[in-house]
Amino acid sequence: MRRHRRAKIVATVGPASASPEMLKALFLAGVDTFRLNFSHGVHEDHAKVHTAIRALEMEVGRPIGILLDLQGPKIRVGTIKDGKITVAPGEKIRFVLSGTNGDQRSIPLPHPEIFAAVLPGHDLLIDDGRVRIRVDRCGSNFIEAEVIVGGVISNRKGVNLPGTILDLSPLTPKDRTDLAFGLALGVDWIALSFVQKPSDVIEARALVGDQAGLVAKIEKPSALDHIDDIIMLSDAVMVARGDLGVEIPPEDVPGRQKEIVRACRLAVKPVIVATQMLDSMVAAPTPTRAEASDVATAIYDGADAVMLSAESATGSYPRETVEIMDRIIRSTEQHKLYRSIIDATRPDEETTAPHAVAAAAADLAEAIHAPTIVAFTSSGTTAARIARKRSAVPILAITPNLRTSRRLCLLWGAHSLLSEDAHTYEEMVDRATTRALSEGFARVADLIVVVAGIPFGQAGSTNNLRVVHVGRPQLCV
Ligand code: PEP
Repeated sequence: MRRHRRAKIVATVGPASASPEMLKALFLAGVDTFRLNFSHGVHEDHAKVHTAIRALEMEVGRPIGILLDLQGPKIRVGTIKDGKITVAPGEKIRFVLSGTNGDQRSIPLPHPEIFAAVLPGHDLLIDDGRVRIRVDRCGSNFIEAEVIVGGVISNRKGVNLPGTILDLSPLTPKDRTDLAFGLALGVDWIALSFVQKPSDVIEARALVGDQAGLVAKIEKPSALDHIDDIIMLSDAVMVARGDLGVEIPPEDVPGRQKEIVRACRLAVKPVIVATQMLDSMVAAPTPTRAEASDVATAIYDGADAVMLSAESATGSYPRETVEIMDRIIRSTEQHKLYRSIIDATRPDEETTAPHAVAAAAADLAEAIHAPTIVAFTSSGTTAARIARKRSAVPILAITPNLRTSRRLCLLWGAHSLLSEDAHTYEEMVDRATTRALSEGFARVADLIVVVAGIPFGQAGSTNNLRVVHVGRPQLCV
């Protein structure tokens, strides 16, 4: 089965979508990668979903990606006396280093790292930024502050500190347990929440190795300050606009999204644009026009994937939401302005041989009107290098590696296929034409472009380009 779009869809699984029947319905509607959000749920339930997705893979005969999203060091207020307090602008309040027993003017914050790092003038944002507090004075176990934007602060509400770099490991003890559990299950991606600096990715890499791809979630201003290094150290990136939009002014989010998507494309790393894309569909069967436009913008920006959160996890219309996202992507990719917009951000530095070969493949395929570019790829890199060009020609990515075939479910434009490795040039040509025909990517007498790294099976090289006549492979150019 073949999707008729280039950008991928990631959908979060939750109570509304965890049944095998609904997972299948969502896959058929267009989901390429499922996200297991470990901020919610228990291991047993995540394992059941994982098993159901792997069974679905067998049933539909297509690889499906699974992304485990770690909760990360989410900061929350403790337990407040009476459950909540209401604060008004100009009011003075106090935070104390404690988990419980806050009184009406003393709010518990069970995170010593905050008291160690916060400075006068820094802001604390509570409950997704609904309440804003500015620090006046602080010590090792107290913060005195003024309320800038008032509201209700209730037990366990989230706290964001946009201007403060906290001395926190990106992996809490819960994350480490969840990570070990997910790696044992065999998830394809691990998403790292609240990355602040490049060393956070290095710390996670030491635990993950190559057992799964590492996705850096960009949701902190400090991550934006180090974005190029973070992208380089990660296998993929998520523009996590939920927390990012709390930590930076909302008006800055669209521009940052464009910057991150462009930097990822340049660095050959898949990028997911996430959060609130079709949020009103949590409760309604159709999106707002602004939401449709938001999905389209991410597609025009060149994102590899767009993501659904509550819409598919807890919403009333998970299947309809995926169907509409699929339709918006297809409509956008077919719009007469799409090509010129996406080509305007085409990276043109091809200073290395692998990039130059991939770029040449994309140009050549367009020039001869090839129906597909077949990429032999063991790590996925050859396919990603071609995808970087965002060519109008679909990529058939053939890999002998099951993990790669699943990870390619996040890559723009790639239809991945698991297949034995080719050992000779002739085998490669034969396999390329056979699979292009059987997958419906080419017809007899078409000319297709085949790209590979030779010697076969060695990750990282993209050094061979060939034009093949389908049906008469001996007529290679
Ligand atoms: C986000 O903040 O946008 C995000 C995707 O992270 P989470 O859903 O884990 O808060």
